[in-house]
Amino acid sequence: MKYRILGRTGLEVSEVGFGGIPILRLPTDEAVQILRYSFDKGITFYDTANAYRDSECKIGKAFSDIRHKVVIATKTGKRDADGALEHLENSLKMLQTDYIDLYQLHQVSREQDWQQLTGPEGALGALVKAKEAGKIRYIGITSHSLPMAVKLIKTDLFDTIQFPFNFIEDEPKDELHTTARTMNLGLIAMKPFAGGALANASLAFKFLRQYPDFIPIPGYDSIASVDEVAALYEQSNVVTEEDIGLMDKYRNELGKQFCRRCEYCQPCPNGVKITPAMGYPILVKRMSPQISVNFAKAAMETVPQCTDCKTCIERCPYELPIPEILKNNYDLFEQHRKSIG
Ligand code: SF4
Ligand code: SF4
Repeated sequence: MKYRILGRTGLEVSEVGFGGIPILRLPTDEAVQILRYSFDKGITFYDTANAYRDSECKIGKAFSDIRHKVVIATKTGKRDADGALEHLENSLKMLQTDYIDLYQLHQVSREQDWQQLTGPEGALGALVKAKEAGKIRYIGITSHSLPMAVKLIKTDLFDTIQFPFNFIEDEPKDELHTTARTMNLGLIAMKPFAGGALANASLAFKFLRQYPDFIPIPGYDSIASVDEVAALYEQSNVVTEEDIGLMDKYRNELGKQFCRRCEYCQPCPNGVKITPAMGYPILVKRMSPQISVNFAKAAMETVPQCTDCKTCIERCPYELPIPEILKNNYDLFEQHRKSIG
């Protein structure tokens, strides 16, 4: 395992990190074992979020005795000061620590979120004070909207940017990455497997390793999955013509049905929560049907409000047949809901 400096934070992290979603479906003892195993394999960067249920708690249990040897990033989706501070205190408690290395504002993709975050009672001001008090070392941002991510980093208020990056979602490599590099921001690649849509780990990492200043944060749910990724990083990276052809093939196949979670389609005039409902099948792959049904319930229960008006299709840059996909996802959700009683 090699180590990199995470942009201007100066934090030294392993060249591949650990994404905290899949461990939430595991019993605590097993999750802790996998986390410790990953550390033994050289991984030192752990990314989680308040929203990932007990993920922070498992990471806290795994590393409380070696806290200073790992770099922990977490996030809040709250936009107001009180809510963000409440999340921060909860994260500190769950993670069994008195500081967070990187505290990120989670999924800032809409202008209204940005206005609220930076408003008089907004989360950002409160986090800056928490940083001054030593509870946070660096403040970062995560987003799924390319124009918003570019706008956010240009404010120069953040030390890192976390954005989806994989060979299906490679759009950020132009303006977003170029701007972020110029500003020496830490670069974190979420969803290296396109949120579960890519099964070919070797190909996914061949692509990503062409960008060594990016720290990908795949999720792991077994010792074998840690071994698989660690072994890939032990080899030199060679991308062949055949690999490029295979990436194009995946891109063409998935591009016709793959939701990038950019949120351009929203808001729906009938209140359908389109983006989370579009991602339901991928969520199931990452979390198991039982957890997904509860996790996605609020969004999925808005799907029957769809009147097939097609407003969202006109807004979607990928021309996805959104109402049709939503209907299929809802059928799957209902099937899972019935199966778990
Ligand atoms: S087609 Fe359905 S989901 Fe799309 S905007 Fe219309 S009502 Fe909303
Ligand atoms: S459906 Fe289209 S516009 Fe909406 S989030 Fe997905 S990719 Fe973006």
